[in-house]
Parts: sequence; C-alpha cells; structure tokens
Amino acid sequence: MPNDCIFCQIVAGDIPSKTVYEDESVLAFLDVNPLAPGHTLVISKDHHETLDDLPDDAAADLFSVLHDLTPAVETAVDADASNVAFNNGEAAGQEVPHVHGHIIPRFDGDGGHPIHAIAGDRPDLSDEELDAIADDIRDGR
Ligand code: 5GP
Ligand code: ZN
Repeated sequence: MPNDCIFCQIVAGDIPSKTVYEDESVLAFLDVNPLAPGHTLVISKDHHETLDDLPDDAAADLFSVLHDLTPAVETAVDADASNVAFNNGEAAGQEVPHVHGHIIPRFDGDGGHPIHAIAGDRPDLSDEELDAIADDIRDGR
C-alpha cells in the first residue's frame, strides 16, 4: 500500500473513522465532509486506485456491501432516496486514489441533482456513432 494513501491509513487504523461496516475485504465509514447526513464511503481494503484496477472478487465484495448498506443508510437518516456512485478516476473528480463508492442519502426538495448533472456538455451522436461505440464496448470486454 502507498504510505500516503489516506484510505489505506484508515484501513490500518492509523486514521480514525466512523466505521459502519467491516469484513475481510471491505470497509465502510462515514465521509468526513458529508454531502448529506449519512454520506457513507464503501472501500476495498486492498489498495486499488479505480474500478478498472479492482480484481473481480474484490469488485463483487464491494458491490455486495453497497447493496446491503444502502437501505440501512437510508433508514438511519430517514432519507427518501440515495445516489450510489463512484468517481472513477481523476478526470471524473476522484480525489482519493483508492477505489470507493459513495452512498449519498437524498431527501425530497434537498436542492441536489440527479447523476446526469455531473457530466460535461452532452455530445450529439448519430445512430451510427452510437452503434460504433456499442461495438467497441462489446469488443473491449
Ligand atoms: P472522491 O472525490 O475521491 O470520490 O471522494 C473522496 C471522499 O473522501 C470525499 O467525499 C472526502 O470528504 C472523503 N474523505 C477524504 N479524506 C477523508 C478522511 O480522512 N476520512 C473520511 N472519513 N473521509 C475522507
Ligand atoms: Zn490506499
């Protein structure tokens, strides 16, 4: 693990966290600078920067905990809904380069936005361009 990784230091217990779940491969704790009450981060204990780097078993473990915790987080803060998302890489806004999913509780009229609001200008793509992109994604798996 990189010595300067904040989340590795949380996993090691060198930085305190408000832990809400822990098992062999996954740790979940409250975000220190929450966007909403109950804002929770779910991380792989092993150091991997992005989802692209995450091995299959660790990805399955991580998603399983996200799936399990999301309703618990919503219930704990009496939320109406939640956004569950990854900033996957620096260009997408990832600040801590240790893979983590956000569970962000949402409330009716909270002034927030849907996940569609986070991307840049929308591209104007033809049907042929969409087909080519879909082909490339299928071929790239
Ligand atoms: P990112 O932009 O990388 O997806 O989000 C990183 C998140 O980690 C931010 O929401 C930030 O508030 C949170 N964070 C950064 N440092 C710490 C820390 O030391 N402890 C906790 N609990 N959260 C942190
Ligand atoms: Zn790390």
